[in-house]
Amino acid sequence: MLAEVVALVTPPRCAACRAPAGRAAEVLCAGCRRALPWLRGPCCERCALPLPHARGRCPARDAAFDRAWAAVAYAGAARDAMHALKFCAARPLASVMAAQIAANAPPALLPAGPSDTVLVAVPPHPRRRRTRGFDPAELIAVALARRTGLPLHRALRRGRAASHQLGASREARRDAANLHFAARGPAPPRVALVDDVHTTGATLSACAAALRQAGSEHVAAVTWARTLDERLVESDQAEAYHR
Ligand SMILES: [Zn+2]
Ligand SMILES: [Zn+2]
Repeated sequence: MLAEVVALVTPPRCAACRAPAGRAAEVLCAGCRRALPWLRGPCCERCALPLPHARGRCPARDAAFDRAWAAVAYAGAARDAMHALKFCAARPLASVMAAQIAANAPPALLPAGPSDTVLVAVPPHPRRRRTRGFDPAELIAVALARRTGLPLHRALRRGRAASHQLGASREARRDAANLHFAARGPAPPRVALVDDVHTTGATLSACAAALRQAGSEHVAAVTWARTLDERLVESDQAEAYHR
């Protein structure tokens, strides 16, 4: 509400760099759109990282999703734009990001014509959703459904980890709880799992595992941005995937 009032009394600015947006009143200014670090070169179909892998090994080799794809690297103007979406509630950005995903994703992951592919958003952490009042992954998924015509199913929910899955330390218990998802019922056979940023891949893999358990045969992780820091990706991921 406040955001709408502020928008009425202040001239439109670029959501990422805050420069006056000019007469076109675009969500992202031309400079920021030009500066987006597109992942246009050859990328790994499993982990979405540019090839070759820094350590010669794919960090998603044990992931529960079949494929992964992202539009941009999570850096520079992309990081600024995501920050604006997450923390300044710049909601129109979700439509821009969805349009960029729809225009660039491989047709095998997001088919343009009739298909049996269903979009599923990674469910938000309840505490995070309460503080922000909205969820970036869901906003992008809703906009992507509108743009592609693919159905959006709320097929997943956050669950509680069973006590035998919980580790000894408080951190281990918290991590296990953060990574526990459950399907709401039988899951669709082909799923494009939508999130805002693919960081370690642990959350996406946990969601894919829950979908698989509920009957999905093919799960692709589709995100707007991908973290390229393979040190972070490798160290967190190797452990998280084996939980
Ligand atoms: Zn800008
Ligand atoms: Zn890979």
